[in-house]
Amino acid sequence: LLMPVITVDGPSGSGKGTVCRLLADKLGWDVLDSGAIYRVLSLAALHHQIALDNEEALVPLAANLDVQFLVDSQTNAGKVILEGEDVTTTIRNEEVGAAASKVAALPRVREALLRRQRAFRTENGLIADGRDMGTVVFQDAPLKIYLTASAEERARRRFVELNERGHDVTLSGLLQDIQARDERDMNRAVAPLVPADDAIEIDTSELNAQQVFDKVITLVDIAI
Ligand code: C5P
Repeated sequence: LLMPVITVDGPSGSGKGTVCRLLADKLGWDVLDSGAIYRVLSLAALHHQIALDNEEALVPLAANLDVQFLVDSQTNAGKVILEGEDVTTTIRNEEVGAAASKVAALPRVREALLRRQRAFRTENGLIADGRDMGTVVFQDAPLKIYLTASAEERARRRFVELNERGHDVTLSGLLQDIQARDERDMNRAVAPLVPADDAIEIDTSELNAQQVFDKVITLVDIAI
């Protein structure tokens, strides 16, 4: 018996991560952070000195990726372990995000990661965070959310977040990064970033996390 999935797709900085965490806490469901898988893969490619466009070499790397997603039962904090090394904070760098969107553009790499992503659906319900959760990976999800926000607002959020973590970034640099990533994610041939036909779109530009969560939880009550 397959448990329900709520898919949350949208561009980077649209607020998916936060709303997914809040939903998972409220419902007691698991979270699939599919972006983290692409991030880890790009980091593994760097470690193994595989070029980010070398599909031939990246496919087996993706298929055999030695990654663990751990959740601390006490603090509920997530940990990402690549080949035995804790990469939880490293994968959040902007450079890794940019590298991730390069490997994510390769069709056979995406295919190699499908089964791994679907395996996150267990006895528990699942909140799936990504770009193609509703369009490709969990097409049968009973509730599909698509979050958007203006590029400027998304850059501003990323700026605040990275600044708090002590990163030396500029707003204009982040806006450029976001626009470049949008461009790659929306225009790739396979699984481009688009809302699923049956997705409900929410523009979060003018909303805080709590307001987005309130909207989504209303939809959960109706759909599930
Ligand atoms: O969501 P996050 O910023 O962590 O994702 C990093 C990159 O991974 C995205 O820019 C996108 O190119 C890719 N990605 C994807 N499909 C997903 C999740 C992420 O192509 N389901």
